[in-house]
Amino acid sequence: MSDLKERIKTESLRLGFSHCGMTRNDSLEKLRPFYSAFLKRNGHAGMGYLESNFERRMHPELVLEGARSVIALLVNYFPPATIPEQDNFILAKYAYGSDYHRVVKDRLNEFVHFMKLTCGSHQAKAFVDSGAILEKAWAQKCGVGWQGKNTLIINKSSGSFFFIGIILTDLELEPDAPETDHCGACNHCATACPTGALDIPYQLDIPRCISYQTIENREEIPAELKSKLNDRIYGCDICQDVCPYNRFASPHQIPAFLPPEPVMNFRKKEWIALTEPDFNRIFADSPIKRSGYQRLKRAMSPRICFQVKPGQA
Ligand code: SF4
Ligand code: SF4
Repeated sequence: MSDLKERIKTESLRLGFSHCGMTRNDSLEKLRPFYSAFLKRNGHAGMGYLESNFERRMHPELVLEGARSVIALLVNYFPPATIPEQDNFILAKYAYGSDYHRVVKDRLNEFVHFMKLTCGSHQAKAFVDSGAILEKAWAQKCGVGWQGKNTLIINKSSGSFFFIGIILTDLELEPDAPETDHCGACNHCATACPTGALDIPYQLDIPRCISYQTIENREEIPAELKSKLNDRIYGCDICQDVCPYNRFASPHQIPAFLPPEPVMNFRKKEWIALTEPDFNRIFADSPIKRSGYQRLKRAMSPRICFQVKPGQA
């Protein structure tokens, strides 16, 4: 089994994953009280996908019959160069390039293909920020990072700018040790968060988070929060940028995650002049396309309230 584990990890590196860990499919029942309370107090801000399939999230064997093991794979998206912030609107780094769902899923599918060649016929399913999977809980159990006070998965040697891919398989794999918490007395993320969304360590107050407000919220951004966007129009990286473990982040080498050339050169003037047809063309393959032109424009003007009509989001 050790030999298989070694081959899987070696292949994961060859395919461009930064970290790979695995664990047994024990249920996540221990987390049930936490998630139940989270949903009960509407901590998910009504985002239905966090609520649906609750039992499946607790029990991966309801997602893949006979699932025995879970593999967590991290894909680095820390950019080689940040888009200049002077006189500019700011995008979260994960949204610089092509939609990660597709890019990471392609890699996960290649990984599953390798496993089928290596281990013969077996069942496996790949997920990236999709499906009824508690990715962060599994990533910690697989030992690739811990869920920090900013609620993100942090790898001790390379920080938190990662997408998480998860594979469920009916293979029996030798488990890695789960990662432990290394936040210690640090509180940089909560102190730096402009909206107080991390006032309770390890719990994100979703409605107060700039990422939620600029990406998910279909209504008006509350005035109190709008004044704190500070030119952020899609997502927010503050609680990652200040995390000491991100001093160890190294640039990704994935061309698909680089920004389209016009975006690298955009400054406020170009953003403000951006038309909807140009938005659709430039961001055709971007995660930004998902939230749409109107929401991006809404965040650009802290004082103008754009009403998003039903069906426009
Ligand atoms: S993403 Fe920004 S607003 Fe959200 S918790 Fe982090 S620092 Fe706060
Ligand atoms: S900034 Fe500090 S407290 Fe926050 S996640 Fe990073 S290490 Fe943990």
